[in-house]
Amino acid sequence: MMEMPKVTACEVSQCAYNANKACHAMAITIGDISNRPKCDTFFQTSIHGGVKETTAGVGACKISECNYNEELECSAANIKVGMKSGTAECLTFTKR
Ligand code: SF4
Repeated sequence: MMEMPKVTACEVSQCAYNANKACHAMAITIGDISNRPKCDTFFQTSIHGGVKETTAGVGACKISECNYNEELECSAANIKVGMKSGTAECLTFTKR
């Protein structure tokens, strides 16, 4: 059975869910209508979000052209997220 991959590192410190380069959302979604592997959960606000004891998983991924994508879910062991071209993106993305 497929297990939910963990976000082992996230460099996007300006996100509400980020603390010390870790993502504390329960789960994130990757991909949006632009068809780039953007973190769709990225959110800037003055409130700190997420659960401190939790490391986020990848709940869903809309990037079907990634090598790790199976039926719009991520099959990688884990992923990293960082800034790319000015947006928060999955750095583990590998084109098929
Ligand atoms: S590694 Fe690929 S399938 Fe997994 S979250 Fe990143 S873009 Fe989506």
